[in-house]
Amino acid sequence: MTERRSWAEPWKIKMVEPITMTTREHRAAANLAAGFNTFLLASDDVYIDLLTDSGTSAMSENQWAGLMLGDEAYAGSRSFYHLVDAVAEVYGYEELVPTHQGRGAEHILSQILISEGDIIPGNMYFTTTKFHQEYAGGRFVDVIIDEAHDPASTHPFKGNVDLDKLAAVVDEFGAERIPYISVETNVNMAGGQPVSMANLAATYEYCHRHDILVMLDATRAVENAYFIQQREPGYAGKSIAEILPEICSYTDGATMSSKKDNLVNIGGFLALRDPELARKARALLVAFEGLHTYGGMAGRDMEALARGMREMVATDDHIRARIGQVHYLGRLINEAGIATVQPIGGHAVFIDAAAALPDMPRDHFPAQALTAAIYVDSGVRAMERGIVSAGRNPETGDHNRPKLELVRLTIPRRVYTQAHMDVVAESVAAVYEQRGQIKGLRFTYEPPELRFFQARFEEID
Ligand SMILES: *Cc1c(COP(=O)(O)O)cnc(C)c1O
Repeated sequence: MTERRSWAEPWKIKMVEPITMTTREHRAAANLAAGFNTFLLASDDVYIDLLTDSGTSAMSENQWAGLMLGDEAYAGSRSFYHLVDAVAEVYGYEELVPTHQGRGAEHILSQILISEGDIIPGNMYFTTTKFHQEYAGGRFVDVIIDEAHDPASTHPFKGNVDLDKLAAVVDEFGAERIPYISVETNVNMAGGQPVSMANLAATYEYCHRHDILVMLDATRAVENAYFIQQREPGYAGKSIAEILPEICSYTDGATMSSKKDNLVNIGGFLALRDPELARKARALLVAFEGLHTYGGMAGRDMEALARGMREMVATDDHIRARIGQVHYLGRLINEAGIATVQPIGGHAVFIDAAAALPDMPRDHFPAQALTAAIYVDSGVRAMERGIVSAGRNPETGDHNRPKLELVRLTIPRRVYTQAHMDVVAESVAAVYEQRGQIKGLRFTYEPPELRFFQARFEEID
């Protein structure tokens, strides 16, 4: 029996947005036109959009009110100072460099810290993060614990840094070739898996002994804080608002995609502790993003962001409902006998496509094929996170072959109801029943960079 969900969302709906109800015939044609890539579908052809939780949140009445109060001054906008105060209070960073979104911050950070030939260890890669590290001449090396690569492992903190792997990297390349380690909270590519506070503290201590900076990818740090509260000894009595700055205290700075935790549709920032580094970042900012008091954001965007940031930690109810909804969907899918990454993470349910389609060769892209099949079945839009997303090795030209071959069902914040989740679970179960009919895919177009966004495929007969 399903455990009783004895709570509901801490909000009610004030405005509704109609969504398209499509037919199977229509979806089959749309899938072909999109080359079996859900990134290439028009949203009008989508019923329930679980492509991403990026920029898809519903803003609150307070945030919408903030849009009207945004100060659009080119320099020294009041809304910028509101944002500076919010970042200092909520995350604890003093130096704020606003950017248009997360990758803008990653670009600036990589350019100011990485030299040709440098090594950047990280707890698994994220697509845009790794791109910017390589674009700046560096090379990413994975130092996440082995459990992260095993979808069945129920380790409570699968995002942890493996300090032995990190030490081996430092021994091999020398600390002077490692400007910083990139530590991601609630590791996206591992299935939204958290890092423990103890691991963050140990990583910071180790890195500081070796003069290596610790840069946080704080995109999902609030979700990570929730898992620390739920799972790590000593944190059950602390609020999310207390745990979050403690996470940041073990870092020298952070890149942030505010399109996730921060409950806005666009925005991001680079936060730093060292004023000298911040000065370098601002010098590049004016060339690539905008003046240092708006980065890539309008005044109204900064106002909504400052408010969203405070809202996400104002009480623990928001994050409990957010992750509760993800876990509700995960439980329904698992109860249908379908393997997912365990434990269910903070922002998405990741279906193990390699387990669902065990006879399909990885080079036929099982997760891409399963994602397309779910869309055709119900209009639910998911995303591939496997061999297609991993791209090619720049040296050998061969596919990178991650252990995980996943379909990601990502839940936007405060957007869909429990009934939508029921429909999603029913569709996934129906496709799983008929999985023998799913055919493998091959590229008809493969872009050189971040190929998963715009690649096109056809079925292999
Ligand atoms: C989304 C995301 C980014 C990139 O941010 P954008 O705002 O999409 O540019 C970086 N890191 C992680 C972990 C993310 O989820």
